[in-house]
Amino acid sequence: MKQKVRKILIDFDKCTGCRHCETACALAHITEDSVNPRFSRIKVFVDLEKGNNYPVISGPYTDAKCTSRGYVTIKGETFDTCTICRAACPEKPFFFEPGTEVPLKCDLCCEPPDPNCVKWCTSDALKFEEVEEEVDDVVNE
Ligand code: SF4
Ligand code: SF4
Repeated sequence: MKQKVRKILIDFDKCTGCRHCETACALAHITEDSVNPRFSRIKVFVDLEKGNNYPVISGPYTDAKCTSRGYVTIKGETFDTCTICRAACPEKPFFFEPGTEVPLKCDLCCEPPDPNCVKWCTSDALKFEEVEEEVDDVVNE
């Protein structure tokens, strides 16, 4: 089935680990007059040792630990899929609203989409794309 798919593409090679995107997302989700980085729907994992950075954008919620034993290779480095999984999951402390623990999911900064993280990424590591695609699962919707 063809469907309009909206997504943010990540170029890991261009990411500097500056974390501007995390701040931008927190700013787009201000509550009670405060900016809290824990409200960010994007998290950048910084590997200081190897100098690699991996932005992850929050996706669907899962209420149980998965049984995935998959692996993915990025820039010659192998990760288990749990490490860079986008889900808000009971196994990881990321992507839950502080205080309520409600799962957070990227909203592409509302409707029509206007991703704040993309605007603030001066390294061009994030790119918003809206295309017609043959889909099984819808990404970021
Ligand atoms: S703003 Fe861009 S370059 Fe900086 S950490 Fe986020 S994705 Fe990486
Ligand atoms: S598109 Fe908006 S909600 Fe999604 S990660 Fe970027 S700043 Fe956060």
